[in-house]
Amino acid sequence: DFKVSLTTLGKDELGELSNSIHKLANDLERLKNERNEFLASIAHELSTPLTYLIGYSKVAMRKGLSEEEREHYLEIIAEESNRMKDLVKNLLDLARMDETSFTVSKEYFWASPFLQDLCKLVVPSYEIKNIKLNLVCKNDFQIYADSIRLEQIVLNLLDNALKYSNENSEVTLEAYKQGDQAVISVIDTGIGIPLEEMEFIFENLYRVEKSRSREYGGSGIGLAVVKELVEAHGGTIEVQSKLGEGSTFRVTI
Ligand code: ADP
Repeated sequence: DFKVSLTTLGKDELGELSNSIHKLANDLERLKNERNEFLASIAHELSTPLTYLIGYSKVAMRKGLSEEEREHYLEIIAEESNRMKDLVKNLLDLARMDETSFTVSKEYFWASPFLQDLCKLVVPSYEIKNIKLNLVCKNDFQIYADSIRLEQIVLNLLDNALKYSNENSEVTLEAYKQGDQAVISVIDTGIGIPLEEMEFIFENLYRVEKSRSREYGGSGIGLAVVKELVEAHGGTIEVQSKLGEGSTFRVTI
């Protein structure tokens, strides 16, 4: 059928068809490159903590270590294992979100205890960089959301705030009710995001400057997952940032 109809096409139509095929081939090539880049980046992300895990577990098993030394190495092992766990969780979610079966199951829960628990989870990693984490939730209120997904959203943002902040600084997790919406912000005083990069950071795999990601680690999928999860709630996420001064990520759901 295709052959027959091709013969009936005029010159212009043939040209158009040829352009479309060309474009399709280019798109396929681009997708293939993106997929390879994605796989390489994930492999790299997983291999870094693995290298630490292997190295530090060997060191921790050495005879003659003091109790403190062994504890120190075990802390690093726990920290790196957690990083791997979070990355794998993000990856699984990213894969699941493309399926039609992905749903959020909303329920009512109180903001303050929910956020306090999250702070407790991240405080040990914050302490390593001596960064103070403030929780500001003056008037407690109820959030209507999928608590597991919201946990992931906030943890990803807190993880970034920590990663892109200098030692001895402060991060604030703030929550309040605005009309019938919950507003949750993560405010840091870290390295900030260049203005021209701001519109891209929520794209999958996007990392600001290669040198920066080499220094800070990261796969560029955290914010892509955050955005998808926020949108699955019918919510919005915005960012305000100034290079060298800090960033604020604000989620409204
Ligand atoms: P990554 O794993 O690289 O952190 P994300 O998707 O979480 O990936 O973030 C994308 C990019 O946005 C990061 O590479 C980083 O350059 C920038 N970014 C995200 N959060 C912050 C922040 N709080 N401060 C400064 N830069 C940030």
